[in-house]
Amino acid sequence: MIITKKVMRNVSLTAHPAGCKRYVQQQIAWVKNQAQNGVDARYPKPTAEMLPRRVLVIGGSTGYGLSSRIVAAYTGGADTINVSFEREPAEKKTATPGWYNTMAFEQQAQKDGMKASSVFGDAFSTAIKEETARKIKEELGQVDLVIYSLASPLRNDPVTGETYRSVLKPIGKPFTALSVDLGDDVVKQATIDPATDEQVQDTIKVMGGEDWMLWIDFLLAQNLLATGAMTVAYSYIGPRITYPVYREGTIGKAKEHLENSASALTNKLEAIGGKAFVSVNKALVTRASAVIPVVPLYMALLYQVMKEKHIHEHCTQQIYRLFHSRLYTKDEIPTDQEGRLRVDDWEMLEEVQKEVERRWALQKEGQPLLQGDLDGVMEEYEHIHGFGFPDIDYQADIDPRIV
Ligand code: NAD
Repeated sequence: MIITKKVMRNVSLTAHPAGCKRYVQQQIAWVKNQAQNGVDARYPKPTAEMLPRRVLVIGGSTGYGLSSRIVAAYTGGADTINVSFEREPAEKKTATPGWYNTMAFEQQAQKDGMKASSVFGDAFSTAIKEETARKIKEELGQVDLVIYSLASPLRNDPVTGETYRSVLKPIGKPFTALSVDLGDDVVKQATIDPATDEQVQDTIKVMGGEDWMLWIDFLLAQNLLATGAMTVAYSYIGPRITYPVYREGTIGKAKEHLENSASALTNKLEAIGGKAFVSVNKALVTRASAVIPVVPLYMALLYQVMKEKHIHEHCTQQIYRLFHSRLYTKDEIPTDQEGRLRVDDWEMLEEVQKEVERRWALQKEGQPLLQGDLDGVMEEYEHIHGFGFPDIDYQADIDPRIV
């Protein structure tokens, strides 16, 4: 079939196998080049003896999870297991980008002598936790690092079977702000109604720390965490402009729960000398972030400002800094007052935020976006679905089942 780009309400319905492979290869190449040749002085050389050799990434097929897998493998030679939720391809239907990314990554990592495999299914379920535990036992023995990088619209409670849906809404009162859609350069006004109390609780159920705790309890009970093992989950704070819909909204409540879970998990991990952290990462275009109202407009302005200051990063660069400037150095692990790791430090620089705020004030409803980089945001969105690479023939008739 000829695979074309189809995007509906900021959700891409298709993915291109050759393009996803290209995306993964580019990320691997950047990591290898940086680790071996130290091209960019802001990204330190890995401290080899500190690095985890066996890594489980829950949500490791796209976005921050995929980058975690790539950085672990291509700076520390880690064997990795990914758990993610994917649609497999059929003769006339493309797979999810995560499926193509995973195939591309695993083919390459295995060729390069590392173990790399996946469990596809619902990470919230007990069955998938059990299957993952079996795989760890068989293939790795134990793991030294567990990355928790799920972003999901729903969760079935493994005990009651009840389904909870996460929503991206303000709390208490409606929020009206300017917004843009990907692929449509016109600024619009968007009003989002506040969540009900039940929606707040449901979002915490899906995106809070409960499932992270279940995973770690489960792995600990099965003796699958090595001495000194660490676990890291990802969070976001962002600027004041997006507080009503993000940090002070439903998802912010879930992130607070996730962050509080880290200290509870560190207590549990004390028995094996391990630690749990939340890392606050930068706003970046991923399948999850593209659907958060108002955030694409913020990202378009942020990208432009950070690119002008030469401090824009992609997911892989963020995770490289997380590993090699934060988690695995000979120094003490640096955290903020709440015990969180911060790799959103460049995004949150006062000079960056002031400039984004200034540009935000220039935007007018019904007008094209001013002084932003919507094209850059769009290009990255295309790339993470395997589109927009100039040397790939998107008119070619290909089998979507082959990567
Ligand atoms: P993403 O959509 O790119 O990745 C989500 C991953 O979760 C995918 O691998 C997907 O397959 C997997 N997944 C979803 N539901 C699943 C399920 N039921 N079972 C198994 N796997 C499932 O998202 P992302 O933006 O990389 O988000 C990952 C984490 O990073 C989230 O916690 C998010 O809040 C956080 N984060 C994102 C940003 C950002 O701007 N993108 C910034 C800071 C923190």
